[in-house]
Amino acid sequence: MMTTQRKILAPVANVETQAYWDAADAGKLLVKKCQSCGEPHFYPRALCPFCFGETEWQETNGEGEIYSFSVMRRAETPYAIAFVKLDAGPTMMSNIVDCDFDGIAIGQRVRVVFQPSNGGHKVPMFTPV
Ligand SMILES: [Zn+2]
Repeated sequence: MMTTQRKILAPVANVETQAYWDAADAGKLLVKKCQSCGEPHFYPRALCPFCFGETEWQETNGEGEIYSFSVMRRAETPYAIAFVKLDAGPTMMSNIVDCDFDGIAIGQRVRVVFQPSNGGHKVPMFTPV
């Protein structure tokens, strides 16, 4: 079963995430890293979720592996949700696209692809490498 294009809701950027969405539009996946404890995290926050230190943006290589996933076959257009553990450290929830859902596996290497949303920023999703 191949994926078909599903309408993606335009994400709403705020002060904390504007740089993230601008980077996504430019084809780059950013995470935030703490200037105090050095831990990267996702979803981007102004303060570190571990120690409340100041955070800074860090560009990732856009790659990671599937930590867990679920295929929504009963949706009008079936889709796959996954937690992707980025090489950069954090785990992010996203979609797996442009592949045969039957072939998705835990531990599979994936790379980011930026999908156009419905009139807004591009949204990072992942496809098998
Ligand atoms: Zn910290």
